[in-house]
Order: sequence, then C-alpha cells, then structure tokens
Amino acid sequence: MTAAPPAEGVLVDRYGRVARDLRVSLTDKCNLRCTYCMPAEGLPWLAGPQLLGDDEIVRLVRVAVERLGVTEVRFTGGEPLIRPGLAGIVAEVAALTPRPRISLTTNGIGLDRLAPTLRAAGLDRVNVSLDTLDRDRFSRLTRRDRLADVLAGLAGAAAAGLTPVKVNSVLMRGVNDDEAPALLRFALDHGYELRFIEQMPLDAQHGWDRATMVTADEILASLAGAFALTPDPAERGAAPAETWLVGGGPARVGVIASVTRPFCGDCDRTRLTADGQVRACLFATEESDLRGALRGGADDAELADRWRVAMRGKRAGHGIDDPTFLQPARPMSAIGG
Ligand code: SAM
Repeated sequence: MTAAPPAEGVLVDRYGRVARDLRVSLTDKCNLRCTYCMPAEGLPWLAGPQLLGDDEIVRLVRVAVERLGVTEVRFTGGEPLIRPGLAGIVAEVAALTPRPRISLTTNGIGLDRLAPTLRAAGLDRVNVSLDTLDRDRFSRLTRRDRLADVLAGLAGAAAAGLTPVKVNSVLMRGVNDDEAPALLRFALDHGYELRFIEQMPLDAQHGWDRATMVTADEILASLAGAFALTPDPAERGAAPAETWLVGGGPARVGVIASVTRPFCGDCDRTRLTADGQVRACLFATEESDLRGALRGGADDAELADRWRVAMRGKRAGHGIDDPTFLQPARPMSAIGG
C-alpha cells in the first residue's frame, strides 16, 4: 500500500533522499551472544525507565506513518521476540492508516511458538538470522546451543505464512566462510530467501577488521562454484540487497554489501532506538531524543518536526572507507540491526 503524501512533509534529507522505511528497536537485550556482535558477558543493558513503553513506541510509529510518510515498519533489536508486548505493538501498528508493511528481524528462537500469534496480529513477514547449519559451529558462534530452535522458528514462520521468509547470514573468515553454498542449498530446499550481509564495524568489542572481512566478491565466487547465478533483472530500488537469480530463477540470493558496495545514495531508512532516539543512519554518531520530548508533553506535530530535523542531518554516506571514520558509540545490538 502506498501512503498518501502527509500534509506536513516527509522525512527528506539534504541530498533529497526520502525515508519511508522505519527500523524500530524494541530492546537492546538478546538471548544469543554472537561473537561478531556482543561480548560473552553481554552489555550494560538499558534500564527499564529508559526504554520506551509499548504505548510510546506505538505513538512514535503512528507519528511516522501518519505525518511523515513511513510505509514500512521493521521491528528489530536486540532480540525483538523477547519483548513481552510485541504482538500488541504489531496489532496497533497494523491498525494504522495507511497500514504500513510490517516485518521483524529475529534470531528465530521461540518463533515456532509465536509465529501464528504474530501473523494474526498483522505481522507480514520475517528475516531470521542464521550463520551456520552446523550445531557445534552455531554454539561457538552464538555462545548458545540453540540451532534446533532457530530451525524450528524458520519452519514455524513459513507455516504461519510470514512469507517470504528471509534468512540473513554473516560470514566470517575461518569461522563459517566455507558455508555459503550449503546455506544457499538449505534456503532453496526450504523456500527461504537467503541474504548474506557483509560484516560491518558495529561490534561492541571493536574487533572488525577491513583487511580480513569476507567481501561480497568472495561470497559470490564461493556460490558460483556450486550454482549458476545471473543478475536479477528486477528493479533494486532502495533495497540494501543486490540480488541474483539462482539457476535462472525464480529463486534468488542476495548480498548486502554495505562495506564494499555501499548503497547509501538510495538509502530510505530511519531508525528509532529502544530508548527513543532517532538515528538517520546505522553509522550516525548523532542521535535525536524523541523520548524526552514525548515525556515532556510534546504533541504529535512537534515530534514529527523533531524527526524531520534529525533526518535533515543525515550524511551522504556511512564513511567506513574514510580515514576519519569513527565507529558509532552504540553497537549494532543497541541501535537495531
Ligand atoms: N536479534 C535479531 C537477529 O538476530 O536478527 C535482530 C538484531 S541483529 C543485530 C540483526 C542482524 O544484524 C542480524 O542478522 C545479525 O547477524 C546482524 N549483525 C549483527 N552485527 C553485525 C555486524 N557487525 N555486521 C553485520 N551484520 C551484523
């Protein structure tokens, strides 16, 4: 569904990009400890009062949809499935006019149980993260023995109609970079759409290294050894994934090459953290506090204005390759990936 142009104006930045896709982090906590994301002991979590309440989240999403032209809402985290009010939040967002498309990025743990409820609440589809199909590797990589739960979650999502079910995989050198063809074979066999995500400098431990990260070119070369890939003729638009048809299609595989093939020029995203800060970019070093304004009594028009101002400051690109690049203070798990 396309939104009617909001009366007061959309989220447009100085480069003319319009943000229509809102990523909302529902919590900074997670029940996995992926080595490329979080230290084993976890992180200093946001305290309860710092987190937006369910009503506050719905209100800010309503402002984004009704006043700012947002048409896509993606819930993420941390791990969004561990937020108790998730289904209620989804139901309220699904009742907005115009109704946005609603998706969820999750590690899939518990999704087998929750998928029917979330589908009934109005969730349209899911992205499930899965970096390996090997149980021991999964346990080492995520520091939790939960591969079976993730696989059950994927199956549950498909059975509940949360489709297309997309699978996100991050490859790391010497850890799981030999698994690209197996992951694709698994996705094809189950009717999931696989996307590889290049590892980005967003880990809490600052362990990312440009010199050793697995690049899109390497991922494609590895896949090409086992599958016939051809460029997908479909219009890419603002989608972060560049896609290829597998064996002539219709199956596809995508690569989100944020580092080696950045797509910032077409970015249409705006982000809201679990503590109510607007971020114009994953890599932004600035945030705008909507929670303070909301709790201070700001009306919807003022919240919308603050959001517009925040997005005006969006930079042309993430600048990872710039010598002056600074990794944002918040890690991916606290921003909302
Ligand atoms: N817990 C949920 C999940 O596992 O999908 C949502 C949050 S998680 C931060 C979202 C996605 O970000 C996952 O697919 C994860 O693999 C990815 N991710 C985390 N850290 C990353 C990094 N440094 N570079 C690239 N992707 C990363």
